[in-house]
Amino acid sequence: MSRLEWKLLTKKRGSATRGVPPGKEDLAWVSGTVTLIYGQRDAVLVDTFLTEQHSKELLGWVVESGKNHTTIYVTHAHGDHYFGLKLLLDRFPNAKAVATAPVVAAIQNQIKPDSTKSIWEPRFPGQLPSQLIAPEFLEGDAFYLEGKKLKVVELGHTDTSHTTALYVPSIGLVISGDSFYANTHLYLAECDEKARNDWLQALDRIESLHPKAFVA
Ligand SMILES: [Zn+2]
Repeated sequence: MSRLEWKLLTKKRGSATRGVPPGKEDLAWVSGTVTLIYGQRDAVLVDTFLTEQHSKELLGWVVESGKNHTTIYVTHAHGDHYFGLKLLLDRFPNAKAVATAPVVAAIQNQIKPDSTKSIWEPRFPGQLPSQLIAPEFLEGDAFYLEGKKLKVVELGHTDTSHTTALYVPSIGLVISGDSFYANTHLYLAECDEKARNDWLQALDRIESLHPKAFVA
């Protein structure tokens, strides 16, 4: 069996925050990262992007890889991680989008028209994909790519409730979802003191895996 490889696609977009103080203009931008894990033939994608334009660019990148896409794993229930699902599944109808049960339940709520109209559309007018879909429940806490295990790590509350990371033991890779940020202000709107403590424990849980590589 061959070793799994991975690569990243990062896109910068406007933050959901509006009206940053002078001198803090960098806070108006955030970046998102999608991970492609692949073997000789098959590939798994972890998360997607927010806007229609970035979803199209993601699809192009995924198609260019030339791999057979089996699974899209969604780490947590934030739109900037799953809004691109429909476009990808239309192109790869044999692929399956999956997430843990609480993440699927939260997404099913969030993609109701009332919810997207009040939360996402005012902040990103005309930029969202026209059709949003939820992933399916993942049975168990792991799935496989060319015989190699990809394990879900439940993190509890980090930047929202019921977040997860994905761990690939054979190559020591951890994809953090939004539990780690790099040079981007943390999204703290859903955090109180208890949630911040949960977040710190989530970081300890990831550290205990001793990853060789880590995607923020
Ligand atoms: Zn998030």
